[in-house]
Amino acid sequence: MEANIYQAIAGGKRLGIMGGTFDPIHYGHLVAAETARVEFDLDNVLFIPTGKPPHKLNHKITNAYERFAMVQMSIKNNKYFKVSNLEIEREGPTYTIDTLKILHELLPKQELYFITGTDALLDLLTWREADNIFKMAKIIGASRPGYDSRKFFAEITKRYPNIKDRIFELEVPALAISSTDIRARVKNKKSIRYLLPDEVRLYIKEHKLYQ
Ligand code: NAP
Repeated sequence: MEANIYQAIAGGKRLGIMGGTFDPIHYGHLVAAETARVEFDLDNVLFIPTGKPPHKLNHKITNAYERFAMVQMSIKNNKYFKVSNLEIEREGPTYTIDTLKILHELLPKQELYFITGTDALLDLLTWREADNIFKMAKIIGASRPGYDSRKFFAEITKRYPNIKDRIFELEVPALAISSTDIRARVKNKKSIRYLLPDEVRLYIKEHKLYQ
């Protein structure tokens, strides 16, 4: 199954890697991935739900298979979108550098673009093998409206002067939607309709998530 995914995207030149916990996935993520695909001329976007994110080892997050299932049902109508279980199948904390190395090995000719929330990138300089991450992939930070990322971009380009054409910001108005808000809404019995695909809303209800 996973092998089929790599076969399907093997012919591309540029691959977007959408990294996130996706707890749950929502329209902000989907719009961010689609915007990145078009703006950066990506052939495909591979969603990679995190296994055990190193910065969340003590947080309670939803079972990886449920998060994966919600991503899978959300992207099924977009032929450019795929989802991989690469991180959720890996033992121990999942570091982005390890994922990039595996993808580089599987798809050596593709230029990799790692896409995630700009606020997730704020401590990128402390991530394992940050220098290598910059070498192996271009980085796209998807920003919420009103998010002031100037300090982050100034700091990162000061530290890595050659990175200017390897790190980009993408403002995504739909990212006004957030997973944190969706979880709080479910807990407080408020509506989450229209914030995420209906199938995901029903899955959350059926599996009694976030209560
Ligand atoms: P997070 O801390 O849950 O998210 C931080 C912020 O970014 C939240 O506002 C989140 O919004 C947003 N966000 C997360 N993923 C997004 C996406 N794909 N598109 C748009 N916005 C997004 O971050 P996380 O999801 O756990 O981690 C993000 C990625 O960074 C993952 O791939 C993770 O493996 C990687 N990471 C790697 C290391 C490392 O290698 N040392 C350390 C930390 C993170 P929502 O809550 O609405 O999603």
